[in-house]
Amino acid sequence: MTTPEVFNDLCEELSTCKDIDLLTASSEIERFSKDAYEYSPVLVDSLKDCRAELVVRPQSLDAVKMVASACAIRKVPLTLRGSGTGNYGQCVPLRGGVVMLMGAFSRVESFDQKTGIVKVQPGCLLRDLERFLAIYGRQLRLVPSTWRSASVGGFFAGGSGGIGSVRWGFLRDPGHLISLEIITVERIPKQLHLDAKHAEALNHAYGTNGIVTALSLSTTRAVSWQEVSIDCSDWPEAVDLLLCCSRAAINLNLCSLVEKDIVKHLPNWYGLTSGSHRLLLLVESDSLSTVERLANSKEATFRHLGSEKDQKGAGLKELVWNHTTLHMRAANSDWTYLQMLLPQPELPVMRSLKKRWGNELLWHLEVVRQQGSQRLAALPLVKWRGKEHLEELIANCKELGAVLFNPHVLTVEEGGLGLVDGDQVAAKRRFDPHGLMNPGKLKGWSG
Ligand SMILES: Cc1cc2nc3c(=O)[nH]c(=O)nc-3n(C[C@H](O)[C@H](O)[C@H](O)COP(=O)(O)OP(=O)(O)OC[C@H]3O[C@@H](n4cnc5c(N)ncnc54)[C@H](O)[C@@H]3O)c2cc1C
Repeated sequence: MTTPEVFNDLCEELSTCKDIDLLTASSEIERFSKDAYEYSPVLVDSLKDCRAELVVRPQSLDAVKMVASACAIRKVPLTLRGSGTGNYGQCVPLRGGVVMLMGAFSRVESFDQKTGIVKVQPGCLLRDLERFLAIYGRQLRLVPSTWRSASVGGFFAGGSGGIGSVRWGFLRDPGHLISLEIITVERIPKQLHLDAKHAEALNHAYGTNGIVTALSLSTTRAVSWQEVSIDCSDWPEAVDLLLCCSRAAINLNLCSLVEKDIVKHLPNWYGLTSGSHRLLLLVESDSLSTVERLANSKEATFRHLGSEKDQKGAGLKELVWNHTTLHMRAANSDWTYLQMLLPQPELPVMRSLKKRWGNELLWHLEVVRQQGSQRLAALPLVKWRGKEHLEELIANCKELGAVLFNPHVLTVEEGGLGLVDGDQVAAKRRFDPHGLMNPGKLKGWSG
């Protein structure tokens, strides 16, 4: 906690800048100290007392520098916030201090029509960036299911992948992030340009090692994605069909499968109900007949729901990834979830886990491209029966060979591969030498 003298001094200095809004009302402090971590009862417990002491909204880069400098001089923690939709508590200030809202930096700075590379400020919403790119016949390679509300900066610093991961893998794969512009947190903050190699360490570092002020990103040719649902009554057949679709010579942007006990809790936007397991796909028009043929070979029910663009509702994108968890929790908030990469072959592992955990574990699968090949990621729904029960389940998944990305932990490392990334720590040493950017979030930083 900041002492009252330091706090008053900080407020006094920042209030002299006309480009900084200071938000001190308790309702605002409360609101901007939370994100979507309520999906994890473990995080709800560990983060319930975390509060910012001050929230600031800078309107210019000079104002960002002023905040960075004021925090560095007084050794006050600084936490960055985009739209606050992260569900690992990524932008919850663990040790108080200042929360800085980056929403004012929402401009697309440039677009190169030859390469398709776009340069954008971090507070730009992914939805707005998609609208901009559509003018040039381009689209983002990867978006989270929160694509309407999430910011670009928050996605790169706090997200991992999502819709598009079946073709394009994960955000940290080389090729997505081309360069970054950042501001350092020190007495005299520096404004730096980082090329792709040096930018990598800030990708998925939860805003702990530099204030991102612009990102240059690769984009892809825009496709009028067609929404497809396929209902299949037999689980092994449904998994087989999912894998067949993902390995076929077709263009896919999403390839998901949810167990029938989840399907009944998904919004009935398409007027469809079914007692079957359901595949949800985004495919290019020329691939529809192939997908239909593959579905018919399994006696599954194929439905072409139309073009994504023509949907009046929120679209298939908001039924998948963590939106599946959202819809289940809307029906009953006793559900939480896990995230893992399943070992191959996947069915025996899923069968073994189902046998032990029954309907307290409901399967939700997403096909992803991992190190160049198609793999099944699972975001199973898990009935909350306490921390011990969850840890037992996690241990069981690991024993069977699954790689866990645990969404019930606080640090970058524990939520990822469990290892300290030396490059992330080295970047923190350079760009946040006093260790003020959300201290406690980067486990590898010890001082
Ligand atoms: C229902 C639901 C579905 C989701 N689906 C997905 C999904 O499909 N894929 C996925 O990856 N995630 C998903 N998420 C998590 C989250 O929505 C996304 O990762 C989203 O892109 C985060 O963006 P944001 O603007 O909300 O970031 P925030 O939550 O505001 O911030 C995320 C992190 O970025 C840091 N940050 C923000 N701005 C900057 C900056 N300028 N410089 C440096 N660091 C910064 C913050 O400090 C924080 O650590 C989901 C969450 C929910 C609740």
